Amino acid sequence: MSILIKNVRLNGCISDIYIKENHIDRIEENMEIQADVRIDGTGKAAIPTFVNGHTHNAMTLFRGFAEDMALEEWLHEKIWPQEAKLTEEDVYWGARLGCLEMIKSGTTLFNDMYWYFHATARAVEEMGMRGVLSAVMIDNFDAAKTANIKTKIQKLYAESLQYSGRIKFAMGPHAIYTVSADALVWAKQFADAHHLLYHIHLSETETEVGNSLKQFGLRPVQYLEQLGVLGENVVIAHGVWLSDEDIAVLAKRKVKVVHNPNSNLKLASGYKFRYQELRDAGVCVGLGTDGCSSSNNLDMLEAMKVASLLQKAWRYDPTALPVDEVMKMGTVNGGNMFGLKLGRIEEGYLADINLINLSDPALVPRHNLNANLVYAAGGSCVDTVICDGKVIMENRHVPGEEEIIRNAQEVAMHWIKR
Ligand SMILES: [Zn+2]
Repeated sequence: MSILIKNVRLNGCISDIYIKENHIDRIEENMEIQADVRIDGTGKAAIPTFVNGHTHNAMTLFRGFAEDMALEEWLHEKIWPQEAKLTEEDVYWGARLGCLEMIKSGTTLFNDMYWYFHATARAVEEMGMRGVLSAVMIDNFDAAKTANIKTKIQKLYAESLQYSGRIKFAMGPHAIYTVSADALVWAKQFADAHHLLYHIHLSETETEVGNSLKQFGLRPVQYLEQLGVLGENVVIAHGVWLSDEDIAVLAKRKVKVVHNPNSNLKLASGYKFRYQELRDAGVCVGLGTDGCSSSNNLDMLEAMKVASLLQKAWRYDPTALPVDEVMKMGTVNGGNMFGLKLGRIEEGYLADINLINLSDPALVPRHNLNANLVYAAGGSCVDTVICDGKVIMENRHVPGEEEIIRNAQEVAMHWIKR
C-alpha cells in the first residue's frame, strides 16, 4: 500500500509526500512515482496528527450528564453509580463515538483508561486509529478484590496480543486513593516484565495531596517513589499539585506528565500547572483532554489553546507557553511518551498525517499556521486524516459515521434509564 500526496503545503513550501506501507518514505517537490492512492493536496497543509495523552474514550456517553460539580462528589454520586450500569455494548458504541470525534479533529493516537478493554480495542481496530489502552484497576484497599484484579489483568493482557500493532496494552491503576500499595507495586512489576506503560491519575487535586499526607505521611509523588513505582514507563495524568521536590523526583525517574487543562478547570481541580518548571527539569510533558464527562469534547486543538492561555494567565506572562511549544506537547511529545516515531512529518516517521483545509476562514490570512490552528481554528479545519499509512477520513467523512451517531445516541438513552 502506498499513498502520494501531491502539491501540499508543508513547513511553508509546496511539496509531495510519498507514503510506503505505514511510514513516510520520501518528501520532495514534483515527485513522479506510482502509488496506489493519489491525493491532491492543493489548498491544504500537511501537519502531524495529534496525540491525546489522557482520556476515558467511552465516556463520550456521559457528555452533558453531570455538570458543574466538584471532583469527589461528581465521581461518587454521579459517575461511578451510573458507570456500574454500563454494558460492553454501551462501551463499544461510546468508544466508537470517541474515536469518530478524535479522527474528525485530527487525533490518531490516544492514551485510554476504561472498563471493558475489548470493547475499546475493537472500536480502535475498526476505526483504524492507534490506542494505548490501559485496563483499569480499582481495589478500594480490599485484599480479596486485589487478588481478583491480578488474575483478570493477566488474562486481559494475554488476550490483548490478538490485536494489531496499533493497539498497546497498558496498566491502569486508577489513583493512589482507589488502589492499594500491593496492587500499585504488582502493576509496576507486571508492566516492567512485559514492557508496558503504567498510566495513573496523580496529584490531581489539593484534597488528594492532603489525604495522601494523612494516610501515608507522604505527598502522592513521594508515596509512589517510596513504593518503587516511578520509572520511565510511568505516565501520570494531571500533576496539578506538584512541589519542587515532586518535580525533581519525576525528572530523576523520567516519569511523563500529561496536562489536561479543560478537565482541571471544569472540575476546579487547580489551574497552576507548573509547565515551565517541569520542562526546565527535563520532564516530557504531553497534553490530553481527559474524558468527555469532565472536558466535554476530545478536541486537541482546543486543549492546546486552553493550555497556552492558562499558563499566560496565571503567570501574568504572555510568553509562558508559546504556540510552537504547545503544538509539540500535542504531537511529538505524545509520540515520545508512548514510544512511537510520531508527531513530525519527516522521512522515516510513521505516516500519521492531517491535511488541513486552508480555506477555513479561521486559517486566513496565513501569517502563522500554528497560531491559526491553536488560537483561531478548531478541530473542524481537519479535512483528511491518514493513520498508519491508511486514509481514515477523507473530505471530512469517516466511513460508518452515520451508524455510529445513531447507535451511540440510542445506547446512551437506554443506559441512562437503567
Ligand atoms: Zn482521567
